[in-house]
Amino acid sequence: MKEIILIKNGELALKGLNRCNFEDILIKNIRRRLKSLGDVTIRKAQSAIYIEPQNDDFHFAEALARVKLIFGIAGFSRACVCLKDMDDILEKSVEYLKEPLEKIKTFKVEAKRADKRFPLTSPEICREVGGMLLSKYHHLKVDVHNPDITVFVEIRDTNAYVRAEQIQGAGGLPVGTAGTASILISGGIDSPVAAWTMAKRGLRLNAIHFASPPYTSPRAEQKVRTLLSKVARYSGCINLAIVPFTEIQDQIAEHCPEDYFTLIMRRIMMRIAERIAKDSGSLALITGESLGQVASQTLPALVTTDYVTTMPVLRPLIGMDKEEIVSISRNIDTFETSILPYEDCCTVFTPKHPKTRPTLESCAEAESKLDIEALIQKAINETEYTYID
Ligand code: ATP
Ligand code: MG
Repeated sequence: MKEIILIKNGELALKGLNRCNFEDILIKNIRRRLKSLGDVTIRKAQSAIYIEPQNDDFHFAEALARVKLIFGIAGFSRACVCLKDMDDILEKSVEYLKEPLEKIKTFKVEAKRADKRFPLTSPEICREVGGMLLSKYHHLKVDVHNPDITVFVEIRDTNAYVRAEQIQGAGGLPVGTAGTASILISGGIDSPVAAWTMAKRGLRLNAIHFASPPYTSPRAEQKVRTLLSKVARYSGCINLAIVPFTEIQDQIAEHCPEDYFTLIMRRIMMRIAERIAKDSGSLALITGESLGQVASQTLPALVTTDYVTTMPVLRPLIGMDKEEIVSISRNIDTFETSILPYEDCCTVFTPKHPKTRPTLESCAEAESKLDIEALIQKAINETEYTYID
């Protein structure tokens, strides 16, 4: 029996020209994500996208798992391909739906004819398929109001399709439809969640990580790569810039007041990130900050870090509690990696009494002994670029 994945993106919010563009980008994203699984045709017809394996060795289960993570798909189904012939539809319905129907008690059938030339009307198709299923599965009853399963029969362009329940998709908008932004990624819980949240709204991601060897170990860097590869299952590939931050931290430790360490670090990170982001085509920065979570995330502190960049800084977690963030992090499977105990550069020089109400003037004064431009240039020159898939 030939099986396909059927995506109905009636849920895509935008209409008209935009919608067409969205569908094309979505199809491109699907194609990229399924490429390694075997020969497959992906086509759009009658406001649905058809994913049709071309060989028996196509990894269908893995394809379902991957489609489930692609943004821009609210729901999808696996469907059995039938001839546009009632006998074939009846025979295949019985066989294809065996497993789900054996587990439930009540069902109903819904039919749709996109091809009005089909000789039976929709109610007639429902009656025939329903009757056939009742005659083969004696434990079943029809319940049109609250069935355990709805069986769908669709008569479309070249074929008919039989399918059971819709599977919930990842929702959101296709990655790439909203432009590109750069996530400042640490090894913590928050920044991968922030990355995922913005990719869900259609942003393609670049990533920037500040590493301070030998204060931070290669394992900490590997942890960031692992986190990004988990996010990339949703967002698609991510370009990662790894910025050497050791010298900057040493200079801050030597020349700046201790209560400003974290703030000055964050201000320099933002300045560097903005330049790298611009060069890589990003229109905004993304951080995992949440209001009041730590001293460097009070409103006065955020004002001082925002001030050094002209790029918009997207902070999707700003109004979330830690539990909400953790819950998303578990759902997207980054939590277990995030809590591995490898140090981040921010934790290496944590002041005992960090400044919670800094002003622009006091920050400028605190960092006045640094040659910030030279430090930034050097760090950017020594930045390494890799690619996470
Ligand atoms: P996370 O859990 O993501 O590490 P956090 O709660 O520990 O965040 P901070 O360490 O204050 O918060 O960092 C705030 C934000 O700054 C992070 O969410 C991230 O966007 C960015 N950031 C922190 N450290 C780094 C780093 N080493 N490289 C890149 N970005 C960083
Ligand atoms: Mg952190």
